[in-house]
Amino acid sequence: MHATLPKLQDTDFPAIRRGRLETLQVNVGYQCNQTCVHCHVNAGPSRTEAMSRETVDEAIAFLETSGVGTLDITGGAPELNKHFRALVLAARRLGIHVIDRCNLTVLEQPGQEDTAEFLAANAVEIIASLPCYLEENVDAQRGKGVFEASIRVLRRLNRLGYGQPGSGLSLNLVYNPQGPTLPPPQAPLEADYQRHLQERYDVRFNRLYVLANMPIQRFGSLLISKGRFEEYLALLKGAYQPQNVESVMCRTLVSVDWRGYLYDCDFNQMLELPLRLAGRPRVHLRDLASRRLDGNVIQVKDHCYGCTAGQGSSCGGALAP
Ligand code: SF4
Ligand code: SF4
Repeated sequence: MHATLPKLQDTDFPAIRRGRLETLQVNVGYQCNQTCVHCHVNAGPSRTEAMSRETVDEAIAFLETSGVGTLDITGGAPELNKHFRALVLAARRLGIHVIDRCNLTVLEQPGQEDTAEFLAANAVEIIASLPCYLEENVDAQRGKGVFEASIRVLRRLNRLGYGQPGSGLSLNLVYNPQGPTLPPPQAPLEADYQRHLQERYDVRFNRLYVLANMPIQRFGSLLISKGRFEEYLALLKGAYQPQNVESVMCRTLVSVDWRGYLYDCDFNQMLELPLRLAGRPRVHLRDLASRRLDGNVIQVKDHCYGCTAGQGSSCGGALAP
């Protein structure tokens, strides 16, 4: 795979600082049952990196003292980490809102037979990638048969109450473009998804989050191979909207890797750009207990233009819908 960081280092992205920490995003490992073309994690079945019980306990200790309101669990496929449920249960006991970034098909993997019920019983919000409502586009990006399996799982989640009015069980979908283009406006695309998935498949969901592809990891490498990296970066820069800088997710979120090290966001984690604090080159979760991150300088590079282009892009979708 081609390295993308050398092409992003020399940046003119504005300097930004952290606000109040609201969300702890924990990447519990890179193992995944899928190998999607656009994966910014380069996850797959052969990856072995997984958060240990000891590091999960350090994350729980941080949740107990930090006052964050949301735990956002990501991967890989987070459910494949054997301590996933312990982390969810501990956070829920603390009254913390929990998000599972779920690829849907993992819920049909051996050993995951009751994971959907576990998520529903603990009122875990599910955010799931479905990069199109057309089968051929999803299978091209995420693998053959992924669309059909995803629809099966969405229907099962609906039967458990997910995406149903008044259930309190949120089911949100994520769209990203197939190629090196900006995503379309979120609201009309959400309406198209709602209509198509309901009429054709009887599937319901709450919100559609529209995300830009980041020019890093597998997608960035693909662009380099095709000689289109610079063109895509120019597109992101050309669509820069300064008002989006105020609400990029790194201002209120901190990302933790499977070993417990901290980053300003998941993208920086994948680029191995650690969060810097008090002159330290690397900060571990256990070092953070007594420190606040407010006002800390965020590590920005040219990929940050992926968050500010057009309507903006964050783990919660468009910034300026
Ligand atoms: S399902 Fe998600 S984590 Fe797994 S390969 Fe696809 S994009 Fe990456
Ligand atoms: S890529 Fe990360 S550090 Fe850069 S603006 Fe987006 S969230 Fe912030």
